[in-house]
Amino acid sequence: MPDGISRRQFLHTAAVATAGLVRPSSARTAAPLAELSRKLAGSLIVRGNAGYGQARRVFNGRFDEFPAAVAFCAGEADVQRCIEFARNYALPISVRSGGHDNGGYSTCNDGLVIDLTGINHVRVNPSSQSADVGMGVKIGPLYRELWAHGVTTTAGTCPSVGMGGLTLGGGIGPLVCKYGLACDNVISASVITADGSLLHASAAENADLFWAIRGGGGNFGVVTKIELRVFDVPRVLNGSLVYPSSQYSDVLRFYRDFLQSAPDELKTGLSFDTYVSSPSQLTLSFCYTGDLTKGKRTASALMTFGNPEASTLQAQTPPGAFSESAGPSGIPSFQTGAFFPDLTDDLIDMICACVAAAPPSAEFGFDDLRGASTTGNSAFPIRDRGLSSWISADWARGADGSAAKAWVEQTQEATRPFAQGVYVNRLNEDDRSRDRAAYGASYDRLAMIKAKYDPQNVFRMNQNIPPAI
Ligand SMILES: Cc1cc2nc3c(=O)[nH]c(=O)nc-3n(C[C@H](O)[C@H](O)[C@H](O)COP(=O)(O)OP(=O)(O)OC[C@H]3O[C@@H](n4cnc5c(N)ncnc54)[C@H](O)[C@@H]3O)c2cc1C
Repeated sequence: MPDGISRRQFLHTAAVATAGLVRPSSARTAAPLAELSRKLAGSLIVRGNAGYGQARRVFNGRFDEFPAAVAFCAGEADVQRCIEFARNYALPISVRSGGHDNGGYSTCNDGLVIDLTGINHVRVNPSSQSADVGMGVKIGPLYRELWAHGVTTTAGTCPSVGMGGLTLGGGIGPLVCKYGLACDNVISASVITADGSLLHASAAENADLFWAIRGGGGNFGVVTKIELRVFDVPRVLNGSLVYPSSQYSDVLRFYRDFLQSAPDELKTGLSFDTYVSSPSQLTLSFCYTGDLTKGKRTASALMTFGNPEASTLQAQTPPGAFSESAGPSGIPSFQTGAFFPDLTDDLIDMICACVAAAPPSAEFGFDDLRGASTTGNSAFPIRDRGLSSWISADWARGADGSAAKAWVEQTQEATRPFAQGVYVNRLNEDDRSRDRAAYGASYDRLAMIKAKYDPQNVFRMNQNIPPAI
């Protein structure tokens, strides 16, 4: 009987396995996995164990994979043991922080999932305006922990997204125009590479690796923790405006002109969605960080345009202001994205046409990248001003998602002539041909660094960069 489970649990899972609901571990790895389990400080949930059904799941219900085991790592030694084990038994490795990957790479069939959610500490160092952050922490708890010390940082807006995937791919949040991407604010990192070495990466040490992990995704090793810059942001001004489809074209033209002279203190976003109404509605949201009197002046220039159906404006403290509510886990969803340097008249017309055809529970959203996001010195390749978009559609569990998926693909295709690259964290597994484009001008250097730190492409369950030959 495997370690750590009762006879009752064992009989139950054996019965379920016999009924074909879960596949038992292969004979080749069953005994070695039990051995690995004994060596870990954290826990190993092997296929067939109680809790496996939950452990194998990721945020997006579209992915229904059956890894051989999920290792809930308690620390760096656990991660090292898992990498060694997976290499010895030639198992694919999926690295999981918040489990929100759009390509489903943080789970796999018959491989080993290295789950980092147990490595989730947040320790603020007030003297250096930084925090030590475990890469398994999710955005919501991160903001809350930082705020307990009166500071905040540059992460995303969905509280259940993990800091691991978000930061290594870039990290776009409410402070991006003022303080840059999440990856731009990493001061140093601990990385366990394919050969099991624990390396410290910073501007002074393993500088090539340090450059690569900030935008190059999970290609170079498992990043267990980072030192992150934090900021004093006592309050921000948050607002939103909701418009019906009859005003889309005018609002988009106004918005484009407004952005030309918008201050870096202001981060805006657009979202056309059919979650609450069909046809769609447009929400223009904004967050002003800085002097609130100036913020109100900026906000009023935005808020006086058109005839919004609803509007909000409030001063808020960071945790509440930065995290939207997390959507439910387990809903099947298909997402992709594109970066648009210019909101041209033709693109505006195309967006309006695509949105008019949107199925229920669909979204075409845009993050406005300007200011500090254009200046970072890391592998993140999108350093122009512009709009980073995501195109997504959900469907009910068990329902046919083909129409939703088709709309996402058609919208991506229709807007492709206006796009220049894509934010890597928006890509799905069908986008493999765009992985290279997502790394843009950084690709060749990233492939050289990959060859140095992971020549056998052990970390390939990601928007992959094969090692340069
Ligand atoms: C609902 C939703 C909201 C989102 N909102 C935002 C947003 O506001 N801003 C934004 O920038 N992006 C956003 N994204 C995109 C998000 O950044 C990516 O999906 C990201 O990959 C999620 O990270 P994760 O840790 O949750 O995912 P995971 O699936 O756990 O990880 C994603 C991938 O990153 C790699 N990885 C993760 N952790 C590590 C690690 N510690 N070491 C090495 N490799 C690792 C692995 O390759 C893994 O497959 C959103 C996505 C969703 C689904």
